Amino acid sequence: MKLIYSPLYTIEVAHKFKTEKFEKTCALLIKNKIIKEEKIIEPEMPREEDLLLAHSSKWVKKILDMKINPADELTAEMPINKEVIFAHLLHCGGTCKAAEIASKEGFGLHCGGGAHHAHKNYGAGFCLINDLAVASKKLLKENPALKILIADLDVHQGDGTAEILSKEKNIFTFSAHSKNIYPEKKAKSSLDLEFEPKTKGTEYNEAVYKNLCSVFEFFKPNVVFYNAGADVYEKDTLGDLSLSFSDIEKRDQMVFELIKKHSAKAVVTLSGGYAQDIKDTVKIHYNTIKKAIEVLKEI
Ligand SMILES: [Zn+2]
Repeated sequence: MKLIYSPLYTIEVAHKFKTEKFEKTCALLIKNKIIKEEKIIEPEMPREEDLLLAHSSKWVKKILDMKINPADELTAEMPINKEVIFAHLLHCGGTCKAAEIASKEGFGLHCGGGAHHAHKNYGAGFCLINDLAVASKKLLKENPALKILIADLDVHQGDGTAEILSKEKNIFTFSAHSKNIYPEKKAKSSLDLEFEPKTKGTEYNEAVYKNLCSVFEFFKPNVVFYNAGADVYEKDTLGDLSLSFSDIEKRDQMVFELIKKHSAKAVVTLSGGYAQDIKDTVKIHYNTIKKAIEVLKEI
């Protein structure tokens, strides 16, 4: 089983977004023999023409020239240096690679990605390049007959993805998120499902299941990008929902079983995760990858 990951995802900078979570998740998957070390695939840098599928030429130039200014850092809410830009580009390349593997093998797993707040012209909410938008548009360009669903189950709305893909008839954006937290100004996804603070796992999973079933029925996607947000967790410091580890495992299982039932291909990305104890975030990401393999390996 292949897993896309790069050690360059880890950046030594003090920030709420603990980049070492990817490294720790990958190490745990190898340690527990879920993934063999030789099956780790390092992503390549995305091509400029791919970035331009989702972002403006002005923003792509700023990124590739590495000329981000303090105002950009303020909007993205993080310090940005060359190492950070390089890592974000690699995350984008990683999701593109996962999509390529999914096309050939049924599913592609990325131990990274999910930068759903990055907009067409600017970075936001710790995200610089919207890997979900770039990779889905790239896939659609290569095969225009595809119908792609982006199922974003991060606790925050996938506002950047919704904005960038708003005019794509063959890409459906579904965002299930908490209503009163970031981003303050919500975008309009193809379908938005909003939750009240403190919503419990059973209610959350039932509502997500019902809505996803409807989307599968009428949109009939043949590729699903599943952005498995870890920040729906009850102890997340930036989320306000009340899902336990077991609720999140049930969520993941439900999503993967729906994908399998409808014979769609799956691209999995890992977003969010700001638990006080990084071990909790790692456990959630680990469980997502493990569950994906358990359910999808027979595709
Ligand atoms: Zn989030």
